[in-house]
Amino acid sequence: MSCSPFDLRDYLFGELAETDRRQVDQHVRGCSHCHDDLERLRLTHSTLLALRDEEVPQRIGFVSDKVFEPSPVRRAWHAFWGSSAKLGFASAAMLSAALVTVAFFRPAAAVPAPVTDTAKIEQQISERAAAAVQKAVAESEARQARKTAELLQAAEQRFDEQRRADMVNVSESIAVLQKRYNVREILSARLEEPK
Ligand SMILES: [Zn+2]
Repeated sequence: MSCSPFDLRDYLFGELAETDRRQVDQHVRGCSHCHDDLERLRLTHSTLLALRDEEVPQRIGFVSDKVFEPSPVRRAWHAFWGSSAKLGFASAAMLSAALVTVAFFRPAAAVPAPVTDTAKIEQQISERAAAAVQKAVAESEARQARKTAELLQAAEQRFDEQRRADMVNVSESIAVLQKRYNVREILSARLEEPK
């Protein structure tokens, strides 16, 4: 209860006439009880003002952020999903980044939470993205398997060609040796011929 001659709230909100205001001024200077009441009112008032300016937009921002504004992670998903057609050319770094995001998403989807539309949407995005990543990985593995097979085949072909070339070299050498041997045989035979 205040012993001020006028309501301290009227004083605080500047709703008192000049003479009344001066009376309260004087009273508050001499009365610690009313001084404290006025301070409390000032504090409450400034807190309410701050709430009106900050907390309400914050609350709206939080709700709209969840529903309308994609979070950085979801924006990344949209970018990733949008570029799924180009996944054939996805670099290993992009793929691993996507896998990391899937790993990040999975536990969140597994947490039992009240099913809201946002939760459903997030789960659907997560599932679609996981499927896309799986497809990309499978395609990448298939490409790698094909590439490996091609390289192996090329290596075998090179080896066969080399071996054939070696064989030709060897048989040519044998032929040369045989010719030389034959020549020597002939020469020897000639030398041994009775004159
Ligand atoms: Zn007082």
